[in-house]
Amino acid sequence: MMERTFVAIKPDGVQRGIIGEIISRFEKAGLKIVGMKMVWVDKGFAKKHYKDLVDKPFYKGLEQFIIEGPVVAIVIEGLHAIEIVRKIVGPTEPKQAQPGTIRGDYAHHSYEYADKKGIAIKNIIHASGNKKDAEYEVKLWFGLDEMHDYKTVHEKHVF
Ligand code: ADP
Ligand code: MG
Repeated sequence: MMERTFVAIKPDGVQRGIIGEIISRFEKAGLKIVGMKMVWVDKGFAKKHYKDLVDKPFYKGLEQFIIEGPVVAIVIEGLHAIEIVRKIVGPTEPKQAQPGTIRGDYAHHSYEYADKKGIAIKNIIHASGNKKDAEYEVKLWFGLDEMHDYKTVHEKHVF
């Protein structure tokens, strides 16, 4: 049940100046940040991260989006962390994402608009979609020496 998942605050989230607000949502849920760094990825790395999407018609726009500025890469640990983080993040399309989710509160982009313009959906944040992706993405973005074991106060009260 204890899981690690990968999150990246995308270039739009960084440029909007809401890094702190986003991180605090995970902290308030009692999840633990065990790795964090700012990274400006290139096309080659983007292809590794989005390896299952490179053949999609929207990939060019997605690649352009993810390399346009630095991202904040984070590894989050907690009970059911993969599912809980996706719940806090909300669904892919901000137009559909409920208020209270990161994508619902901080963005309003739609598939329709993105596809018409040939750009990626600007949705603030990436989060691993499932266990397999989480394992792959944590390993791709972080070395073992970049993740840390420590105890939070929540561990005393939640676990
Ligand atoms: P998620 O990020 O919610 O896991 P996906 O893995 O399906 O979503 O897609 C990765 C990213 O690609 C999305 O977050 C979004 O930025 C972009 N994207 C997905 N589908 C489309 C689309 N039809 N048009 C434009 N951009 C898209
Ligand atoms: Mg995904």
